[in-house]
Amino acid sequence: MKKTRRVVVASLIALLVILGGIVGGVTYYRHAAQPVVRDRVARVRTRANSSTSRQASSQPKPRKNVVQAAVTSDRIPLSKWQKQSTPVQLPILMYHDIGQGNTLMMPADQLKNQLTWLKQAGYYELTPAEAYTVLSENKVPQAKIVWITFDDGYRSMYTTGLPLFKATNSRVTINEISGSVGSNWNLTAEMIKTMQQNNVDFASHTVSHLELNKLPNARQQMELTNSRQTLAQITGTAPNTIAYPVGRYNVVTLQYAKAAGYQMGLTTTPGLAAASQGMYALHRVRVNPGQTQAGFLNLVQHGY
Ligand SMILES: [Zn+2]
Repeated sequence: MKKTRRVVVASLIALLVILGGIVGGVTYYRHAAQPVVRDRVARVRTRANSSTSRQASSQPKPRKNVVQAAVTSDRIPLSKWQKQSTPVQLPILMYHDIGQGNTLMMPADQLKNQLTWLKQAGYYELTPAEAYTVLSENKVPQAKIVWITFDDGYRSMYTTGLPLFKATNSRVTINEISGSVGSNWNLTAEMIKTMQQNNVDFASHTVSHLELNKLPNARQQMELTNSRQTLAQITGTAPNTIAYPVGRYNVVTLQYAKAAGYQMGLTTTPGLAAASQGMYALHRVRVNPGQTQAGFLNLVQHGY
């Protein structure tokens, strides 16, 4: 009897040791396996990122994951930007309203195509601050860069534009007429704040959208200074850029723009922007409706 009990006890102990070993092994495996899985995810992400930068110099490939990527994390840190040996030429695209009717209105489906083509071609869309760094320091985050601007702050920027910018993960700047904020055709302060929270940038397009070169000096100064202040009150950030209404300016405008605190002035003179034009007289590329993919990408690349 005693012997049998001892065998049973010994068997139980052996069983416990085996069970303990199994549980311990599984636990160890699970803990050890996790970093491997995490590492694999990280590597996949890295590969996805490097394929993004590779696209800058290789053939454009349609990518599905563009839409899902988070806007806030897609900025290329300044430490990775490269100083260029020749002066950078920057396409600053100029749009106005979204819709149909005239050449200043871009139909939503066409705009969506154009924003998608830019992504597929590997373009990196700049913020106003990044655009300033490009032109003032002659540095670029990658080979293909573009700055997308919309003038006037039409209501369509919020109703049609914002969902579209989010869907295509596009970074754009709206040149807002500060005196029109809240009017029925323009954006409200709340809309501007919502858009800003969704990574839309804002620049000034003066207070009342008058042709600056035709105004007395004091009025010019007011248009430039007050619009910057008003936009700073709404967004919390004083804009670094002024887009001159109808592209009109004179020598005084350039001086007042600088004195008001702007770092850049945008005109409607057609072509790619370059620092040699003067930081307060930068050229832009007007995008008209009816573009083919090849025609649009050619326009972005060459500015005409
Ligand atoms: Zn305008």
